[in-house]
Amino acid sequence: MSTFKEMGLNPEILSAIEELGYVNPTKIQELAIPKILESKQDLIAFAQTGTGKTAAFSLPVLNQIDTSKKGIKCIVLSPTRELGLQITADIETYSKNIPGFKVVAVYGGADITSQIRKIERGCDIVVGTPGRTLDLIKRNRLNLEGVEFLVLDEADEMLSMGFAEDLDAILANTPAEKQTLLFSATMPPDMVKLSKKYMTDPVEISAGSKQEANLNVTHQYYKINNRDRYPALKRAVDFAPDIYGIIFCRTRAETKEVAERLAEDGYNTDALHGDLSQAQRDYVMGRFRSRQLQLLVATDVAARGLDVNELTHVLNFKLPDEDAVYVHRSGRTGRAGNEGYSISLLTAKEEGRLRYLERKIGRKFEKVDIPNGQEICQKQLFSLIDNIKETEIANSHIESFLPQIFEMFEDMTKEEVIKKIVSTEFNKFLEYYRDAPDLNKTSDRRERDRNRDRDDRRGDDRRDRGDRRDRGERRERPEHKTASNMTRYFINQGKKDGFSPKLLMGMINSHLGGATPEIGQIEIMKMFSFFEMESGHTADLQRAAKQMEFNGREISIEESSPKPKGGGRDRGERKDRGGDRGGYRGGRDSGGRDGGGYRGGSRERSGGSHGAKRRTRR
Ligand code: AMP
Repeated sequence: MSTFKEMGLNPEILSAIEELGYVNPTKIQELAIPKILESKQDLIAFAQTGTGKTAAFSLPVLNQIDTSKKGIKCIVLSPTRELGLQITADIETYSKNIPGFKVVAVYGGADITSQIRKIERGCDIVVGTPGRTLDLIKRNRLNLEGVEFLVLDEADEMLSMGFAEDLDAILANTPAEKQTLLFSATMPPDMVKLSKKYMTDPVEISAGSKQEANLNVTHQYYKINNRDRYPALKRAVDFAPDIYGIIFCRTRAETKEVAERLAEDGYNTDALHGDLSQAQRDYVMGRFRSRQLQLLVATDVAARGLDVNELTHVLNFKLPDEDAVYVHRSGRTGRAGNEGYSISLLTAKEEGRLRYLERKIGRKFEKVDIPNGQEICQKQLFSLIDNIKETEIANSHIESFLPQIFEMFEDMTKEEVIKKIVSTEFNKFLEYYRDAPDLNKTSDRRERDRNRDRDDRRGDDRRDRGDRRDRGERRERPEHKTASNMTRYFINQGKKDGFSPKLLMGMINSHLGGATPEIGQIEIMKMFSFFEMESGHTADLQRAAKQMEFNGREISIEESSPKPKGGGRDRGERKDRGGDRGGYRGGRDSGGRDGGGYRGGSRERSGGSHGAKRRTRR
């Protein structure tokens, strides 16, 4: 491997990168820098963000720029203003020892006059988003006639964002004699077209194989039942106590809903989607970058501008339609030498996509079991211990209190103290996951329940028919049902969703295929509800629930234990609830501490200090 020095970079540049602590070039730098330094041949480089691609094109370009000449020597086009600003900041760092060198960023959503002023004051490199760059060209404020280098960064992203026409128009304003450097993670067909149109005999290099996902990323998936998507997501998050990740959703509505549910369940999260203004987006991204948020729920489009190197996880709540988008999503983790996980939640139907994705990324997906309560508790517990051990002791602050504290613990052994401290922190977690079902078996179990219900009914019917035949009777619907032949159900819709008894009755009537089971007591709570229905319809009801949707949310109906006597809180009463303890969130409404309250209520009460969310490492 050659060093930066051996590549022939100038001392000004070498000193700057040395200060940054770059010791060895990354793979893409090793390939690109000598090529750009040695020849004027156009270049296509397959590399994602995180591979060191910015330095791969910036360093050799900077090395060749003559600052004594007037005019713009290089234009870098980037799909988003955030990436553009980052490239600009990197170039500023790399060029800090080059006398008289200037780089200017131009991008939409900001005052154009100050950008014009900066260009007029003179600069060597302009980094721009396609829209604003073209706008400036049209206003005759940006003259690219003298550029020696054209860099198209994240070219595939620019095309997928619909910048093809803008790129055409910008490129038409650059001289024929120039070196074009195209960086892209994937090679979609319209990029092949673009490269054919604007590049001459380009040489191709790659930071890995074409479209290959980062080797530091482990691609995993949970096989889920569709209705368990959200609880499975929570398991993935809870199983990674120090998670710092993005949860990708397909639509704005889904993004909002997942973020809201997670926030209600006490997670440190926010949503990033197209309904937010630029200022709101900046705010959310800023909080995520500075790790005030541990989880970001985002659409692919909205997350485009976000560039964070230390993500531990990318969670695919649902897979994107396009395989290339998966490559981008997963490439957001495992950067800069860190390990990363890309975990997808897949139903049996969605599992079929994996073959194609695996071909695309050249990697295998690992099917992993959805962690159970025990595993999560263990992981959280050890993480807690790790964190206790790593915590620095604020000597000067606690010194004065210590004698009194030691005295208070005097009658306890070290083991007892440890047990108590750990339990204080951890009991709620244990409580939360106590009796949590195995989501890996959910579908089988439900299948069994359905079959059992069906068999029971058939058995009853047979016995019933036999008895009636014996007695010469005709079967009639009983006139009156007592509470004992009612089953109580949980449904994941509540007042907050606009749910009402009338809606419930309507849903049941229209989805039970003509059956008219009697409905008993209906209790609409804030986040969820309970209702009683004539027994023997569980399987039909759950089948019907699969087809129902309310406010874009899937409906989940599960058998619950009978209502507790005295109308008390029914925490933990549902015997079969598919693991969505989020439902317990509602416990807060009725004032009781409960399993879900661990995630929300209890943590809120103690100043947001419990569980995984507290332990974001900075
Ligand atoms: P990029 O792919 O350009 O976004 O770079 C990803 C990260 O790697 C940035 O934080 C760079 O500062 C860093 N980086 C780039 N080149 C090197 C290198 N040769 N050694 C160490 N870090 C690097």
